[in-house]
Amino acid sequence: MAYDLIVIGSGPGGYVCAIRAAQLGLKTAVVEKDKTFGGTCLNVGCIPSKALLHASELFEEAGHVFAKMGIGVGTPKLDLPAMMKFKDEGVDGNVKGVAFLFKKNKVDSFQGTGRVAAAGKVEVKGADGKTQVLETKNIVIATGSDVARLRGITIDEKRVVSSTGALTLDKVPQKLLVVGAGVIGLELGSVWRRLGAEVTVVEFLDRILPGMDSEVCRQFQRILEKQGVTFKLAAKVTAIDTSGNRLKASVEPAAGGAAETIEADVALVAIGRVPFTDGLGLKEAGVALDNRNRVQVDAHFATNVKGIYAIGDVIAGPMLAHKAEDEGVAVAEILAGQAGHVNYDVIPNVVYTYPEIASVGKSEEELKAAGVAYNTGKFPFTANGRAKVNLQTEGFVKILADAKTDRVLGVHIVGPDAGNMIAEAAVAMEFGAAAEDIARTCHAHPTLTEAVKEAALAVGKRAIHI
Ligand SMILES: Cc1cc2nc3c(=O)[nH]c(=O)nc-3n(C[C@H](O)[C@H](O)[C@H](O)COP(=O)(O)OP(=O)(O)OC[C@H]3O[C@@H](n4cnc5c(N)ncnc54)[C@H](O)[C@@H]3O)c2cc1C
Repeated sequence: MAYDLIVIGSGPGGYVCAIRAAQLGLKTAVVEKDKTFGGTCLNVGCIPSKALLHASELFEEAGHVFAKMGIGVGTPKLDLPAMMKFKDEGVDGNVKGVAFLFKKNKVDSFQGTGRVAAAGKVEVKGADGKTQVLETKNIVIATGSDVARLRGITIDEKRVVSSTGALTLDKVPQKLLVVGAGVIGLELGSVWRRLGAEVTVVEFLDRILPGMDSEVCRQFQRILEKQGVTFKLAAKVTAIDTSGNRLKASVEPAAGGAAETIEADVALVAIGRVPFTDGLGLKEAGVALDNRNRVQVDAHFATNVKGIYAIGDVIAGPMLAHKAEDEGVAVAEILAGQAGHVNYDVIPNVVYTYPEIASVGKSEEELKAAGVAYNTGKFPFTANGRAKVNLQTEGFVKILADAKTDRVLGVHIVGPDAGNMIAEAAVAMEFGAAAEDIARTCHAHPTLTEAVKEAALAVGKRAIHI
């Protein structure tokens, strides 16, 4: 028996699982089909998108905010190839970091496409077509997800792009059409708007960011509109004519009706992602999928076939890197005989636009639907000293707490640095905190986090600064 564990896929689910398993003494290997480790997240997802969001945010600040603070830099000039190089170097550093961690933890790695030949056997097919079969006690499938496509619309990654193409455009499109007002569409739409594109977002539903607290989404949409993004909600793109110099997209009301044409230089199709199981041999191995083609697992990440487990984007749940990582740790601990576990009630969700949107726990809609009585505490950044002095007053913190017990059920933040601030709420919720606990915790002054404390005070109707 060669290995205790073979992980197929080296994204945040797979590589974290392999490292944790090796820490726990399991003889572990990873199979990865791409040239670099790190999966979607490090190569074409979280990391490159955040690099471009960071750089484009500073570009916009240099152009619009610096002068107000007495910093004269003139009109900033965009050097897009240099910005792309900055992004690529960031990706390179991160993927090399994973290779280093594999070596450090004595995780073996195999480059090639992995296929479950049978329980206990993984076949690896290299780029040269040669195959080898590895033996293992357990297999973890961590093959992630792929871009969801629109029927009849071909993604060429040049003019009609997925998120992957939108991270490598070689010039700023004059007009960018974004199909889908989810996280990826709004983040990458923000990048290209800041760099000079006119951005129109078409969304099938009548709201942006489906699934997030609707008050947050309404305010966020107004903020993005003020920044110059145009929204066409309750509408669908049915075709994109690529024959001319400009793309011509047919857009119809979601409920049906007359189509209009929207012209664009680039169209970004960002309607979501689908689990990736191509070539894995799951059907032959008898591994059950659910009705959305995700690998079906039980509460211990086990599939219906003994010795085969699955984690991350390829199973149900939010398609987020930190969810995949936590599942990777949990399944490794379970395989080592420990009590690995993921608390799905406390998984933060962040949109890295400006301002950022961050939430954890339940939305108001979810609490209403479940018939849970709750109190709301809200505090706007216009009343936070640090936000005021930094000229960053858009947004608010909203805390939802159980009406009877005061236990925090959900926290929603629209505001600068919301993605970092939500960690406090996640820790509080993990410890079963009441709003009162947050309200009585001393928060440093002057920080944006004081708005979290004030929102907690506002649950008991006793905020100080408003
Ligand atoms: C543009 C973009 C931005 C994003 N931003 C964020 C963000 O800010 N925060 C966040 O939490 N999430 C973000 N995500 C989502 C995040 O990337 C995913 O949730 C995360 O990567 C899922 O991890 P995973 O390990 O399940 O799969 P993946 O990261 O998709 O990794 C799967 C790996 O498996 C490999 N593989 C597949 N099949 C085989 C096979 N048969 N043999 C060998 N290898 C195989 C693939 O090559 C890949 O390397 C973003 C996604 C995109 C596209």
